[in-house]
Amino acid sequence: MSFEITIGWLYPKLMSTYGDRGNVICIERRSLWRGYNVKVLPLDQNTTAEDMATVDLFVGGGAQDRQQEIVMRDLQGKKAEVLREKIENGTPGVFTCGSPQLLGHYYEPGLGQRIEGLGILDMVSLHPGENTRRCIGNLVVEVTASRLAQELEEITGCKPYLIGFENHGGRTKLANVEALGRVVYGLGNNGEDGTEGAFYRNAIATYSHGPLLPKNPFVADWLIQTALQLKYQQSITLSQLDDTLAMQAREAMFKRLKVSLPAPAL
Ligand code: GLN
Repeated sequence: MSFEITIGWLYPKLMSTYGDRGNVICIERRSLWRGYNVKVLPLDQNTTAEDMATVDLFVGGGAQDRQQEIVMRDLQGKKAEVLREKIENGTPGVFTCGSPQLLGHYYEPGLGQRIEGLGILDMVSLHPGENTRRCIGNLVVEVTASRLAQELEEITGCKPYLIGFENHGGRTKLANVEALGRVVYGLGNNGEDGTEGAFYRNAIATYSHGPLLPKNPFVADWLIQTALQLKYQQSITLSQLDDTLAMQAREAMFKRLKVSLPAPAL
């Protein structure tokens, strides 16, 4: 049986800052290398609710405040409902920076009107004002969302740490939603409470650009595996790929940031 995976890429022209497109390429490549068929479906102003319903795995990138406003004017009605239902029913996804802000209750920009979000993630984001420093720099995060941490550990045999790069003005406060992880290096959700991102059903929300997945290929594999298992209702084990270069890059980054990890680590 040949498996097929449809990647739904949210608003590629409006939400693809800081190389977030790399997340789509990474999922696509790692699926193709294993012989799975891949379809990349842009989800934008031309998308219907029926298109949205065919998605097996969502990718949403970052955006400027202005673009977020345009996206939210379009992401309404039946289309938004299908997205909500799919996330609630466990369709996996990786949502970076501007897109999780839109999955929360609202995002308040430094200038201008509050942008109402979809309220799927119980959290709010606000920009403290144009004169406040943006949160910019490398990010290292220990995954603490318990089910995800356990499933990632099953893939790698190691405690999961994520490497990324953040660049955001908005500060996110979580309410009744689990954090993705604990900040080891960088600022994360708000620079105050040590949390980074959120994890809900199978949706990963994060401030990590990077792009995240090439730097943390085991997360791409978790997304692919979760998407296929949900779609085909069977247990699926992905074949091993040679990630030597990615692992060397991770090691170099941990060294550069002087982050020492408990063994076994990767
Ligand atoms: N506009 C949002 C902020 O500055 C998101 C930025 C981004 O996606 N990189 O917080």
